Amino acid sequence: MDRIELGNVTVTRVREYFGPVDIAPETFFPDVPKEVWDKSSPWLAPHFLDSGATTVNSAIQTWLLRSEGRNILVDTGVGNHKERPYSPVWSHLDTGFLANLSRAGVEPEDVDLVINTHLHVDHVGWNTRLDGRNWIPTFPNATYLMPKDDFDFWNPENGHTPLLGRGNQNVFEDSVAPVHRAGRTLLWEGSHRIDANLRLDAAPGHTPGSSVLTLDRGPDRAVFVGDLLHSPVQILAPDHNSCFCEDPAAARATRRRLLGWAADHNALVFPAHLGGHGAAEVTRDADKFAIKGWAPFTPYTEQR
Ligand SMILES: [Zn+2]
Repeated sequence: MDRIELGNVTVTRVREYFGPVDIAPETFFPDVPKEVWDKSSPWLAPHFLDSGATTVNSAIQTWLLRSEGRNILVDTGVGNHKERPYSPVWSHLDTGFLANLSRAGVEPEDVDLVINTHLHVDHVGWNTRLDGRNWIPTFPNATYLMPKDDFDFWNPENGHTPLLGRGNQNVFEDSVAPVHRAGRTLLWEGSHRIDANLRLDAAPGHTPGSSVLTLDRGPDRAVFVGDLLHSPVQILAPDHNSCFCEDPAAARATRRRLLGWAADHNALVFPAHLGGHGAAEVTRDADKFAIKGWAPFTPYTEQR
Protein backbone atom coordinates (compact mmCIF):
# COMPACT_ATOMS: atom_id res chain seq x y z
CA MET A 1 0.00 0.00 0.00
CA ASP A 2 1.35 3.44 -0.87
CA ARG A 3 -1.76 5.50 -0.09
CA ILE A 4 -3.71 6.07 3.12
CA GLU A 5 -6.65 8.23 4.15
CA LEU A 6 -6.25 10.44 7.20
CA GLY A 7 -9.52 12.22 7.93
CA ASN A 8 -10.27 14.34 4.87
CA VAL A 9 -6.75 14.08 3.46
CA THR A 10 -5.27 11.37 1.22
CA VAL A 11 -1.55 10.75 1.71
CA THR A 12 0.47 8.98 -1.01
CA ARG A 13 4.11 8.01 -0.79
CA VAL A 14 6.06 8.82 -3.96
CA ARG A 15 9.56 7.44 -4.12
CA GLU A 16 12.61 9.02 -5.65
CA TYR A 17 15.34 6.82 -4.14
CA PHE A 18 15.89 4.28 -1.40
CA GLY A 19 19.21 2.88 -0.30
CA PRO A 20 22.56 3.79 1.20
CA VAL A 21 23.45 7.43 1.54
CA ASP A 22 27.14 6.57 1.93
CA ILE A 23 27.56 8.03 5.37
CA ALA A 24 28.42 5.97 8.43
CA PRO A 25 25.78 6.10 11.16
CA GLU A 26 28.25 7.30 13.81
CA THR A 27 29.16 10.19 11.46
CA PHE A 28 25.55 10.98 10.57
CA PHE A 29 24.59 10.99 14.28
CA PRO A 30 27.71 12.13 16.17
CA ASP A 31 26.07 11.62 19.59
CA VAL A 32 25.33 7.93 18.98
CA PRO A 33 28.38 5.67 19.40
CA LYS A 34 29.12 2.85 16.97
CA GLU A 35 28.28 0.17 19.57
CA VAL A 36 24.69 1.38 19.65
CA TRP A 37 24.39 0.94 15.89
CA ASP A 38 25.99 -2.51 15.98
CA LYS A 39 23.57 -3.55 18.71
CA SER A 40 20.55 -2.00 16.95
CA SER A 41 21.19 -3.30 13.46
CA PRO A 42 18.90 -6.35 13.87
CA TRP A 43 15.85 -4.09 14.03
CA LEU A 44 17.15 -1.18 11.93
CA ALA A 45 18.42 -3.17 8.93
CA PRO A 46 17.63 -3.06 6.10
CA HIS A 47 15.08 -0.25 6.21
CA PHE A 48 17.15 2.29 8.16
CA LEU A 49 20.69 0.86 8.17
CA ASP A 50 22.65 -1.66 6.13
CA SER A 51 23.20 -5.06 7.72
CA GLY A 52 26.83 -4.33 8.57
CA ALA A 53 25.94 -1.00 10.23
CA THR A 54 28.34 0.77 7.88
CA THR A 55 25.91 3.19 6.22
CA VAL A 56 22.57 4.76 6.93
CA ASN A 57 19.85 3.67 4.53
CA SER A 58 17.45 6.48 3.66
CA ALA A 59 14.45 7.12 1.49
CA ILE A 60 14.20 10.22 -0.62
CA GLN A 61 10.49 10.54 -1.15
CA THR A 62 7.69 13.04 -1.53
CA TRP A 63 4.49 12.96 0.46
CA LEU A 64 1.65 13.72 -1.97
CA LEU A 65 -1.39 15.09 -0.19
CA ARG A 66 -4.86 15.57 -1.61
CA SER A 67 -6.75 18.07 0.53
CA GLU A 68 -9.81 20.16 -0.34
CA GLY A 69 -9.43 19.20 -4.00
CA ARG A 70 -5.82 20.34 -4.29
CA ASN A 71 -2.66 18.32 -4.94
CA ILE A 72 0.10 19.20 -2.50
CA LEU A 73 3.71 17.94 -2.55
CA VAL A 74 5.66 17.87 0.70
CA ASP A 75 9.38 18.15 -0.20
CA THR A 76 10.73 17.50 -3.67
CA GLY A 77 13.81 15.33 -3.19
CA VAL A 78 17.10 15.66 -5.05
CA GLY A 79 15.98 16.10 -8.67
CA ASN A 80 17.58 14.96 -11.90
CA HIS A 81 20.74 16.21 -13.61
CA LYS A 82 21.82 18.53 -10.77
CA GLU A 83 25.52 19.32 -10.38
CA ARG A 84 26.40 18.56 -6.74
CA PRO A 85 30.20 18.65 -6.52
CA TYR A 86 30.26 18.10 -2.74
CA SER A 87 27.34 15.65 -2.53
CA PRO A 88 28.36 12.98 -5.07
CA VAL A 89 25.57 10.65 -4.02
CA TRP A 90 23.05 13.27 -5.23
CA SER A 91 24.94 14.47 -8.31
CA HIS A 92 23.53 13.95 -11.83
CA LEU A 93 20.73 11.62 -10.81
CA ASP A 94 18.39 10.28 -13.44
CA THR A 95 15.51 8.74 -11.49
CA GLY A 96 11.95 7.98 -12.48
CA PHE A 97 10.43 10.29 -9.89
CA LEU A 98 8.02 12.02 -12.28
CA ALA A 99 6.89 8.64 -13.61
CA ASN A 100 6.24 7.55 -10.03
CA LEU A 101 4.23 10.73 -9.46
CA SER A 102 2.29 10.03 -12.65
CA ARG A 103 1.54 6.50 -11.43
CA ALA A 104 0.06 8.15 -8.35
CA GLY A 105 -2.30 9.99 -10.71
CA VAL A 106 -0.62 13.40 -10.73
CA GLU A 107 1.10 15.11 -13.65
CA PRO A 108 3.38 18.14 -13.05
CA GLU A 109 0.70 20.59 -14.21
CA ASP A 110 -1.79 19.09 -11.72
CA VAL A 111 0.26 20.16 -8.69
CA ASP A 112 -1.31 23.11 -6.85
CA LEU A 113 1.10 23.58 -3.95
CA VAL A 114 4.70 22.61 -3.30
CA ILE A 115 5.91 22.70 0.28
CA ASN A 116 9.65 22.75 0.98
CA THR A 117 9.96 21.99 4.70
CA HIS A 118 13.43 23.52 4.43
CA LEU A 119 15.87 24.32 1.65
CA HIS A 120 18.45 21.53 1.90
CA VAL A 121 19.71 19.77 -1.24
CA ASP A 122 17.41 16.75 -0.79
CA HIS A 123 14.18 18.74 -0.27
CA VAL A 124 14.05 21.13 -3.20
CA GLY A 125 15.52 19.21 -6.14
CA TRP A 126 12.36 18.59 -8.15
CA ASN A 127 11.32 22.21 -7.68
CA THR A 128 12.95 22.65 -11.08
CA ARG A 129 13.81 20.66 -14.17
CA LEU A 130 16.23 21.28 -16.99
CA ASP A 131 14.77 22.90 -20.11
CA GLY A 132 17.62 23.15 -22.58
CA ARG A 133 20.25 24.90 -20.47
CA ASN A 134 17.78 26.57 -18.09
CA TRP A 135 16.23 25.45 -14.84
CA ILE A 136 12.48 26.06 -14.91
CA PRO A 137 9.72 25.24 -12.40
CA THR A 138 8.79 21.55 -12.75
CA PHE A 139 5.27 22.27 -11.54
CA PRO A 140 4.21 25.23 -13.69
CA ASN A 141 0.88 25.90 -11.98
CA ALA A 142 2.00 25.46 -8.40
CA THR A 143 2.63 27.96 -5.66
CA TYR A 144 5.85 27.02 -3.87
CA LEU A 145 5.68 27.62 -0.11
CA MET A 146 9.14 28.25 1.31
CA PRO A 147 10.08 29.34 4.83
CA LYS A 148 11.41 32.88 4.54
CA ASP A 149 14.05 32.26 7.22
CA ASP A 150 15.56 29.48 5.11
CA PHE A 151 15.25 31.48 1.90
CA ASP A 152 17.30 34.23 3.51
CA PHE A 153 19.75 31.85 5.19
CA TRP A 154 20.60 29.89 2.03
CA ASN A 155 20.62 32.85 -0.32
CA PRO A 156 24.33 33.21 -1.21
CA GLU A 157 23.90 36.97 -1.46
CA ASN A 158 23.50 37.07 2.34
CA GLY A 159 26.91 35.50 2.95
CA HIS A 160 26.06 32.94 5.64
CA THR A 161 28.44 30.06 6.34
CA PRO A 162 26.22 27.08 7.06
CA LEU A 163 27.29 23.95 8.91
CA LEU A 164 26.35 21.93 5.84
CA GLY A 165 28.97 23.99 4.07
CA ARG A 166 29.42 23.25 0.41
CA GLY A 167 27.01 20.31 0.56
CA ASN A 168 24.33 22.75 -0.54
CA GLN A 169 26.44 24.26 -3.32
CA ASN A 170 24.39 25.25 -6.40
CA VAL A 171 21.12 24.36 -4.68
CA PHE A 172 19.78 27.88 -4.23
CA GLU A 173 20.81 28.83 -7.74
CA ASP A 174 19.31 25.84 -9.58
CA SER A 175 16.36 24.83 -7.40
CA VAL A 176 15.18 27.91 -5.50
CA ALA A 177 16.04 31.09 -7.39
CA PRO A 178 14.46 30.00 -10.72
CA VAL A 179 11.12 29.41 -9.01
CA HIS A 180 11.36 32.74 -7.24
CA ARG A 181 12.26 34.56 -10.46
CA ALA A 182 9.22 32.95 -12.12
CA GLY A 183 7.05 34.57 -9.44
CA ARG A 184 5.85 31.24 -8.06
CA THR A 185 7.13 31.41 -4.47
CA LEU A 186 5.25 32.37 -1.35
CA LEU A 187 7.74 33.09 1.43
CA TRP A 188 6.04 32.63 4.78
CA GLU A 189 7.06 33.25 8.40
CA GLY A 190 5.87 31.96 11.76
CA SER A 191 2.73 30.07 10.82
CA HIS A 192 0.78 29.64 7.59
CA ARG A 193 -2.70 28.11 7.31
CA ILE A 194 -3.05 26.20 4.01
CA ASP A 195 -6.65 25.08 4.30
CA ALA A 196 -9.07 23.78 6.92
CA ASN A 197 -6.97 20.61 7.34
CA LEU A 198 -3.36 21.71 7.05
CA ARG A 199 -1.10 24.26 8.72
CA LEU A 200 2.61 25.05 8.39
CA ASP A 201 4.59 26.11 11.44
CA ALA A 202 8.17 27.17 12.02
CA ALA A 203 10.23 24.42 13.68
CA PRO A 204 13.77 25.82 13.73
CA GLY A 205 16.92 23.89 14.62
CA HIS A 206 17.80 21.55 11.77
CA THR A 207 17.97 24.73 9.70
CA PRO A 208 16.91 28.24 10.77
CA GLY A 209 13.73 28.06 8.69
CA SER A 210 12.86 24.38 9.12
CA SER A 211 9.13 23.85 9.32
CA VAL A 212 6.53 21.17 9.95
CA LEU A 213 3.17 20.55 8.33
CA THR A 214 0.37 19.55 10.68
CA LEU A 215 -2.90 17.85 9.82
CA ASP A 216 -4.90 19.19 12.75
CA ARG A 217 -8.57 18.75 11.78
CA GLY A 218 -10.73 15.68 11.61
CA PRO A 219 -10.44 12.31 13.35
CA ASP A 220 -6.85 11.54 12.32
CA ARG A 221 -3.89 13.75 13.13
CA ALA A 222 -0.48 13.80 11.50
CA VAL A 223 2.67 15.86 11.49
CA PHE A 224 5.18 15.96 8.63
CA VAL A 225 8.42 16.76 10.39
CA GLY A 226 10.94 17.03 7.54
CA ASP A 227 14.45 16.35 8.85
CA LEU A 228 13.66 16.69 12.52
CA LEU A 229 14.09 12.90 12.45
CA HIS A 230 16.29 10.84 10.13
CA SER A 231 16.21 7.56 12.04
CA PRO A 232 13.76 5.85 14.41
CA VAL A 233 16.63 5.87 16.92
CA GLN A 234 15.90 9.59 17.40
CA ILE A 235 12.38 8.78 18.61
CA LEU A 236 13.80 6.56 21.36
CA ALA A 237 16.58 9.08 22.10
CA PRO A 238 15.20 12.49 21.10
CA ASP A 239 18.33 14.43 22.02
CA HIS A 240 20.34 12.79 19.20
CA ASN A 241 20.84 15.23 16.34
CA SER A 242 22.10 14.58 12.86
CA CYS A 243 25.43 16.16 11.93
CA PHE A 244 23.47 18.50 9.63
CA CYS A 245 21.50 20.25 12.41
CA GLU A 246 22.58 23.90 12.19
CA ASP A 247 21.49 24.76 15.77
CA PRO A 248 21.86 21.60 17.89
CA ALA A 249 20.13 22.95 21.02
CA ALA A 250 17.14 24.26 19.07
CA ALA A 251 16.91 21.01 17.07
CA ARG A 252 16.71 18.97 20.28
CA ALA A 253 14.07 21.24 21.81
CA THR A 254 11.97 21.26 18.64
CA ARG A 255 12.19 17.47 18.26
CA ARG A 256 11.07 16.93 21.86
CA ARG A 257 8.22 19.44 21.54
CA LEU A 258 6.85 17.92 18.34
CA LEU A 259 7.20 14.30 19.43
CA GLY A 260 5.37 15.29 22.63
CA TRP A 261 2.57 16.88 20.61
CA ALA A 262 2.31 13.81 18.39
CA ALA A 263 2.21 11.44 21.37
CA ASP A 264 -0.44 13.53 23.16
CA HIS A 265 -2.63 13.85 20.03
CA ASN A 266 -2.19 10.34 18.65
CA ALA A 267 -0.70 11.87 15.50
CA LEU A 268 1.25 9.89 12.92
CA VAL A 269 4.80 11.25 12.56
CA PHE A 270 6.05 11.48 8.96
CA PRO A 271 9.79 12.16 8.72
CA ALA A 272 11.08 13.01 5.26
CA HIS A 273 13.47 10.11 4.84
CA LEU A 274 12.24 7.12 6.78
CA GLY A 275 12.38 3.81 4.92
CA GLY A 276 10.31 0.92 6.19
CA HIS A 277 6.71 1.90 6.81
CA GLY A 278 7.60 5.57 6.40
CA ALA A 279 5.72 6.98 9.39
CA ALA A 280 5.35 6.07 13.05
CA GLU A 281 2.92 6.35 15.93
CA VAL A 282 4.74 7.43 19.06
CA THR A 283 4.04 7.40 22.76
CA ARG A 284 5.70 8.97 25.77
CA ASP A 285 8.16 6.78 27.70
CA ALA A 286 9.29 8.66 30.83
CA ASP A 287 11.31 11.58 29.43
CA LYS A 288 11.76 9.88 26.05
CA PHE A 289 9.46 8.36 23.45
CA ALA A 290 8.66 4.91 22.15
CA ILE A 291 7.32 3.59 18.86
CA LYS A 292 3.75 2.39 19.32
CA GLY A 293 3.18 1.31 15.74
CA TRP A 294 3.91 2.01 12.10
CA ALA A 295 1.88 3.44 9.25
CA PRO A 296 0.52 0.83 6.80
CA PHE A 297 2.75 1.86 3.88
CA THR A 298 4.53 -1.07 2.23
CA PRO A 299 8.30 -0.93 2.87
CA TYR A 300 10.57 -0.47 -0.12
CA THR A 301 12.08 -3.84 -0.85
CA GLU A 302 14.76 -3.19 -3.43
CA GLN A 303 17.27 -0.38 -3.32
CA ARG A 304 17.61 2.60 -5.71
ZN1 LIG B 1 16.80 15.77 4.18
